Amino acid sequence: MHAVTSHLMEVYAREPVSFVRGCGARLWDEQGVEYLDAIAGVAVTSLGHAHPDITDAIVQQAGRLLHTSNVFRIDWQEQLGERLCLLTGMQKAFFCNSGAEANETALKLARLHGHRRQISVPKVVVMENGFHGRTIATLSATGNPSGQRGFEPLLPGFLRVTYNDIEAVRKVAECEPDVVAVLLEPVQGEGGVRALSPHYLRELRALCDQRGWLLMLDEIQTGLGRTGTWFGYQHAGVAPDVVTLAKALGNGVPIGACLARGTAAELFSPGQHGSTFGGNPLACRVACKVLEVIARDHLPERAAELGVRLRSGLERALCDHPHVIAIRGQGLMVGIELDQPCKALVGRALEEQRLLITVTRDSIIRLLPPLICDDRQIDDIVDRVDRLLTPGVDSPATLATEEARL
Ligand SMILES: *Cc1c(COP(=O)(O)O)cnc(C)c1O
Repeated sequence: MHAVTSHLMEVYAREPVSFVRGCGARLWDEQGVEYLDAIAGVAVTSLGHAHPDITDAIVQQAGRLLHTSNVFRIDWQEQLGERLCLLTGMQKAFFCNSGAEANETALKLARLHGHRRQISVPKVVVMENGFHGRTIATLSATGNPSGQRGFEPLLPGFLRVTYNDIEAVRKVAECEPDVVAVLLEPVQGEGGVRALSPHYLRELRALCDQRGWLLMLDEIQTGLGRTGTWFGYQHAGVAPDVVTLAKALGNGVPIGACLARGTAAELFSPGQHGSTFGGNPLACRVACKVLEVIARDHLPERAAELGVRLRSGLERALCDHPHVIAIRGQGLMVGIELDQPCKALVGRALEEQRLLITVTRDSIIRLLPPLICDDRQIDDIVDRVDRLLTPGVDSPATLATEEARL
């Protein structure tokens, strides 16, 4: 164990556990204690830890070539672009290193789209409780005032509306002539595991077509099988104009992507955007392998099945729990909303249940298990969450307290 004082900036309230090894949905700490992973590095390691095919791709490419820069053609980048476009119906890809950068790319596309249409102050419609990243532009697009506080002035050019409320967007359309795009998540992750209704997304698509707006979907958390389909928008059967990806795309090797079709695919010209590391041979080869494994092992379908199993298991176990007010989600993106703040449960789950969970919006337990879990592991997550929340083992009043962790 290392000393508590550190030379790291205090941007995370970290748990005092450090993992040294993983395999599938299991992790081991420095003392050799085994844990069950129900968050997959926050929706990143969808194929689990130390997946042999991913390890092999990393090793193969690391021994060959890591980086040459985007001054040159990169074969793995071209292959990855082609595969992602085939999967999404998009036409062009840009590769970067994170979700925030993927959304920055989308926002730059929106502005170009506006200027192309002689709109000098283009505006983007974004959602309450939306999450798009931590850079200044993506933080400005994010609908969380507490995350924004202290970082003003934020970027202008965003119009915020209620999530899932088509009338709210129609109202903006009527009084704002300078809108050029809408940016939103098919399921809000950080915002509390809330899914868009398919009907809303179809109506939004129609409105975007009518007005010439770009429909830009942030699939950074929902994409690549997580919700039970390859992409979250497939539940509604619509095609967006721009899609952003990151998180699970490299199974832990950093990579982000912004995909576009139609006019949005033709907006950039050389010199207008770029990335030193983006799309390097290592990240792209690994991402190609990730896509191959997801398809080969039918992981979107698996996520749908396992999601039903997880949610129905939780509903059975927690149906008359006094503090659980909702269990919701799509595929293996599941939220358990409590009637009180419960951040301390993250530490208690580790200590008492050897289970990794996250809490978002103070009172919502969020579960994002790897898509390679077997049925038994999903049932095990249900059991451990049940024991964690069961009154009597710990009195319900201690759910929220920090002392409960000590
Ligand atoms: C995680 C996340 C981001 C930010 O990704 P980073 O890689 O942390 O920059 C953006 N949007 C959504 C929906 C996310 O879940």
